[in-house]
Amino acid sequence: MIDEIVLATGNKGKIREFSGLLEGVFGRIISLNDLESPPEVVEDGATFRENALKKARAIAAYSGKPALADDSGLAVDALGGSPGVYSARYAGEGATDRDNIAKLLTELGGIENRSASFVCVLALVAPGGEEITAEGKCEGVIITEPRGEGGFGYDPVFYLPEYGKTMAEIPPELKNRISHRARAAEALIKLVHTS
Ligand code: IMP
Repeated sequence: MIDEIVLATGNKGKIREFSGLLEGVFGRIISLNDLESPPEVVEDGATFRENALKKARAIAAYSGKPALADDSGLAVDALGGSPGVYSARYAGEGATDRDNIAKLLTELGGIENRSASFVCVLALVAPGGEEITAEGKCEGVIITEPRGEGGFGYDPVFYLPEYGKTMAEIPPELKNRISHRARAAEALIKLVHTS
C-alpha cells in the first residue's frame, strides 16, 4: 500500500470528497494545505489529462511524495467537447456559474443534440516518475432552463434521464455516488490495486 499521498488541491470540498472516495486505499491523505508554500500550477493543458498530470507532477516533485491531482469539466457532444478544459472560465476570466450556463445555453440555441458528459481525470504521480491516470464520466443532457438549487457549476442544466432530475435536484449523496469524480476514483483504485 502507498503510505501517504498529497492531494494537489487546497479546496476543502474536494479534500473531503476525495478523502471519502479513497478511504482505505492509501495510508494517509494530506493536501496542499499541509505543505509550506506549495507551487502554483497553471492549468494550461489542452486536455483534462494534461492538466491533471501537470499538477500531480509539480506537487510530487515539490513534496517528494506521491501526488494525486484531478481535472474535470463539462464536454458537450454537439460543441465538439466544449467547454472542456475551459469549463470554469467559459464565459471569460472571473465568470460566474450563471454566466457560464448562459453562454452554454446560447451556444446550444437551436441545436437538437444536447447530449453531454461531466468528465474527470485523476493523475497519481510518484516522485520516482511512475504515473497512473484514470477517467470517469457521467452522461446526461443539457436542458434549456436551469432547475434545482444543489451542486455547483453546470449542475442546474445537466439533466439525468435515468433519475428524471438535474444534477442540482438530486441529493448530494446520490451525486457523490454517480459523479464523474466517483467513477474516476473507482477506476483509479482498480489500477492502484493491479499495479
Ligand atoms: P475543476 O476541475 O473541479 O476545477 O472543475 C472545473 C469546472 O468544471 C468547474 O468550475 C465547473 O464549471 C465544471 N464542473 C466540474 N465538476 C462539476 C460538477 O460536478 N458539476 C458541475 N460543474 C462541474
